[in-house]
Amino acid sequence: MAAPEERTFDDRDGWIWFDGELVPWRDAKVHVLTHALHYASSVFEGQRGYGGVVFKLREHSERLKQSARLLGFELPWTVEEIDAACNEVVKANGWTDCYMRPVAWRGSESMGVAPGKTKPHLAIAGWEWGKYYGDKLAQEGIRMDIAPWRRPAPYTAPAESKAAGLYMICTLSKQHAEQHGYHDALMFDWRGRVAEATGANVFFVADGTLHTPTPDCFLDGITRRTIMDLARKRGVEVVERAIWPEELESFQQMFLTGTAAEVTPVQSAGPWKFEVGDLTRQLAKDYDDLVYGRIPNA
Ligand code: PMP
Repeated sequence: MAAPEERTFDDRDGWIWFDGELVPWRDAKVHVLTHALHYASSVFEGQRGYGGVVFKLREHSERLKQSARLLGFELPWTVEEIDAACNEVVKANGWTDCYMRPVAWRGSESMGVAPGKTKPHLAIAGWEWGKYYGDKLAQEGIRMDIAPWRRPAPYTAPAESKAAGLYMICTLSKQHAEQHGYHDALMFDWRGRVAEATGANVFFVADGTLHTPTPDCFLDGITRRTIMDLARKRGVEVVERAIWPEELESFQQMFLTGTAAEVTPVQSAGPWKFEVGDLTRQLAKDYDDLVYGRIPNA
């Protein structure tokens, strides 16, 4: 028998919360004629538990409900109920440090572009997980490709929703990056401005000041906002603005922020090189201290 970590995601032991109850892992299934599978009518969250406590759980549950609303469906569970369900999953599986994946989607009642009478569903799974890029790269920094795809304009797609459909171009970009020997890709937006990575936001350091693109066509990440608060608490100036690729030349440090990526230093993005500097390391440590409750909430 394969070791648990070698098993596919549908072949593991544990409990998944599925439409109101905990079900054995392998029984958490959907039918092939499910609206979400054909038309991407699905939204999800990525959240981490640290020492058994889900970091910023309320914000994730609120974003999940809002993501569904932006796709035109309402989840019949309150934010409090979603929070409680997530906590139940952590407890039932006995996790301390984990990554969690609540996912909501339209069901099988209609098959066509029109959502029709599709009912909303919600499942909450998760797994024990370490650093997104592994321990070594979390220290050394990752190397990034420039994505061949761009973030769409907000009038092309509901950019504030963590919608599965928006990840098509992220998967394509990440695949392209990995095929070319990179760890991830930096995505520009439809105007050609610097936007984000395929699953994380981006920050730059120029002479001790933090710069990050204005999130007007991509997720304003929960980690992104947390890092801005942590930096300001340290007296670091944070500038949210439009950033053009030519400017990357002038930045000394670059890092990613995200629930999965946490704070990950970047050593290069396309032709631009960066150092893993003190401010990046400091903010990575502050974030770690915060998620483990060693410093009060930002
Ligand atoms: N952008 C994208 C495309 C993402 O997938 C994520 C991860 N959810 C983020 C940004 C960062 O968001 P957060 O900090 O809320 O995890």
